[in-house]
Amino acid sequence: MSVFKLWWIKGTFAILMLLIPGNLAWGKEGHYATCKIAESFLTEEALKAVKNLLPETAEGDLASVCSWPDEIKHRYNWRWTSELHYVDTPDFRCNYDYCRDCHDSSGVKDRCVTGAIYNYTEQLVTGYNTSNSVVKYNLTEALMFLSHYIGDVHQPLHVSFTSDEGGNTITVRWYKRKTNLHHVWDTDIIESAMKTFYDKDIDVMTLAIEKNITGTWSNDISSWANCTSGQEVCPDPWASESIKCSCNYAYRNATPGSTLGDDYFLSRLPIVEMRLAQGGVRLAATLNRIFDPLYSIPQKLAYIGNIRPTSHTA
Ligand SMILES: [Zn+2]
Repeated sequence: MSVFKLWWIKGTFAILMLLIPGNLAWGKEGHYATCKIAESFLTEEALKAVKNLLPETAEGDLASVCSWPDEIKHRYNWRWTSELHYVDTPDFRCNYDYCRDCHDSSGVKDRCVTGAIYNYTEQLVTGYNTSNSVVKYNLTEALMFLSHYIGDVHQPLHVSFTSDEGGNTITVRWYKRKTNLHHVWDTDIIESAMKTFYDKDIDVMTLAIEKNITGTWSNDISSWANCTSGQEVCPDPWASESIKCSCNYAYRNATPGSTLGDDYFLSRLPIVEMRLAQGGVRLAATLNRIFDPLYSIPQKLAYIGNIRPTSHTA
């Protein structure tokens, strides 16, 4: 599918303007966890390429810049990116269809989170694997956008109904505090989990999720990582999973005005942790396919299983 849009990179040359805080994504912790998990499943070659592209401020750590697209999306010259963090489906339709759903609020096609994932993957593939100096993409930004949006498409309420704006207009209480359903899934479930189970430390939570990936979920990771038809990236099935999670878990028992407590928290936390794990594994698999394309499939799977071969023979 070609969603290669030159005009998307206009913001690349933007002058940085006013920052207005926003909260329309996995919160900082969720993106950090997804990217930290991904880093642990990158091949040596892919890790080298990622480190080469990262800005100096990242100090070699992809996870430290994974929230960057949220930090800039309300700045004047980056506002065009703000609709790339999610995709809306028609109200009460628990399925996702790229052709029907991937457009912005003005109806411009391909401007949604899955379109953005295709776009930035294409930029990295074209820009990284060519010596053609005509290619003018900013690959550092492409890497940071791709890493962030793969996280976003796994947050169930980033693929959800149009009129409630992904749960943003559904006011609920998280225990005693007033919030909205979108914020519950971006931030509140993760923060409560950190406080209750993980020493208030996102690194402890991330390590526990990584342990599950190589333990409980070890039989699932090759199917998580796999893309059919040899594509580098396949966000459409990931978006389909998210809208199903939205219908089955996020919206369920969370009507406007309801109070969400232990029942909701403890039954939804495993879903949040699995989506963070899937996001991390799939980001790694995507970056491995982009930056280490000669790597054989069995070797890639060995990496995804965290069993690192001793030599690179691609
Ligand atoms: Zn986002």
